[in-house]
Amino acid sequence: MSAIEVKQLLKKFHGQPVLHGIDLEVEQGEVVAIIGPSGSGKTTLLRSINLLEQPDGGTVRVGDITIDAARSFSQQKAQIRELRQHVGFVFQSFNLFPHRTVLENIIEGPVIVKGESREEASALARELLAKVGLSGRDTSYPKRLSGGQQQRVAIARALAMRPDVILFDEPTSALDPELVGEVLNAIRQLAQERRTMVIVTHEMSFARDVADRAIFMDEGRIVEQGPAKALFANPQHPRTQQFLEKFL
Ligand code: ADP
Repeated sequence: MSAIEVKQLLKKFHGQPVLHGIDLEVEQGEVVAIIGPSGSGKTTLLRSINLLEQPDGGTVRVGDITIDAARSFSQQKAQIRELRQHVGFVFQSFNLFPHRTVLENIIEGPVIVKGESREEASALARELLAKVGLSGRDTSYPKRLSGGQQQRVAIARALAMRPDVILFDEPTSALDPELVGEVLNAIRQLAQERRTMVIVTHEMSFARDVADRAIFMDEGRIVEQGPAKALFANPQHPRTQQFLEKFL
């Protein structure tokens, strides 16, 4: 079974459709990059996968949990909560708790949501901090860290929930240029481990090199998709060509 399946996803804001019936399937271990102009619906699609946005139509499946917009969301609360436990989400703006240490930020989910012991959660948190190159920063507060370090803590926090899939929403776009590379390297390492990931990004060379598949969206639709290297080397649709020209 594929890791994620979105069918006929419709989303409106103030009555205006911003996603016009998106179909998307992501295989286990696949890395998918979503690219496209600002306002094309990339973030809304990503947020819909873990129900941070409630779709107006269609279904979202992660693993064996399916949420159907045709049914009331209040009746699907338990499934939504369970689905979210399988999905890690890394926000553009890190979203760390400012008054908690790095370690407390990372263990919050495992302890509160999953009921793990603080000891077990802390041991994993330290391993994950080492993995993202932040060994020894467990007692630091977020404001003492650079943006790149904060985003790497946010990645460790997502991993601490042992998610089946990780969604990244423009993970480097709030960073100073010199801090982008360290965050991309952390994500690249996860790709090498064959983690299932969907990444909304404006980092075109990263998307080309790291993603298995690239999806180009425009005006709430998937215009073109294919193996990342092929899509970047030889885009077929005029809108994809026009968009990618700006990055040459
Ligand atoms: P992208 O990630 O490609 O830049 P978004 O998914 O953020 O695009 O936005 C798609 C469209 O939906 C845009 O027109 C945006 O203005 C609109 N939109 C996004 N979020 C909201 C919201 N919370 N309320 C109203 N409109 C929104």
